[in-house]
Amino acid sequence: MDRVLDWIDEGTQLCRGGMAELDAPSLLPGWSRRHVAAHLALNAEALGNLVSWARTGEERPMYPSAEARNADIEAAKSRPADELRSWFEEASAGLTAAMGTLTDAQWQTEVRTSRGVPIPATEVPWMRSCEVLIHAVDLGTGPTFADLPTDFLTALCDKIRSQRGNVPDVDGPLPQLAAYLSGRPYVDVLGSDGKPAQELPPWL
Ligand code: ZN
Repeated sequence: MDRVLDWIDEGTQLCRGGMAELDAPSLLPGWSRRHVAAHLALNAEALGNLVSWARTGEERPMYPSAEARNADIEAAKSRPADELRSWFEEASAGLTAAMGTLTDAQWQTEVRTSRGVPIPATEVPWMRSCEVLIHAVDLGTGPTFADLPTDFLTALCDKIRSQRGNVPDVDGPLPQLAAYLSGRPYVDVLGSDGKPAQELPPWL
C-alpha cells in the first residue's frame, strides 16, 4: 500500500507539471488538456465517494451515471485555468487525506467501480495511481511510459492482462508493453509471429 501511495504522489507531481499550459490538445482523441485536468479532479472526488462508502458503510457511487460524469467534465473544462489547477490540487489532497483515515477493517469494505464491478476499498489507491500516472502521459507535455516507475509498469501490465482476459501473446520493452496494453500509442511491440501487434481499445 505504501508503494501505491508513492505512485500516486509521483503521478500527481507529473500531472501538476503537465498542467502548466492547459490550452492545448491532449494525446487522448477529442480531449484537450482541460478535459484531462477536469477529469482528474472529478476522479479524485469520485474515488473519495468510495472512501466515504468504505468508512460509513453507506453506499456512495463514484458518479451518478456515465452521462453525468461526461457532462461534468464538459461543463468543468471551461473554468479558468488557475481554477482547474487548484481544483486538481485540492481534490487530490482531499482524497489522500480521506484515505489516511480508513481503518484496516474499513479498507476491506466492498464498494463498486463506475462500471459496477465489486472491489474491496483497497483497490481505490491503485485506481488513483493508474489515473494520475497514465493521464500524466496523456496530457502530452513530455512524459512517456518510460518515465513511469518500473514496478508500477509491471503491476499495470499484470493487472490489464488479467482484466482484459484476451490479450494476444506479445513481446517488447516494458514501457511499450504498458502503453500497448493501455491502448495508448506504442512502438516495438511484436506478436508471437514476429509481426507488429494489433492495437487494443483504450483501457481506463
Ligand atoms: Zn481516467
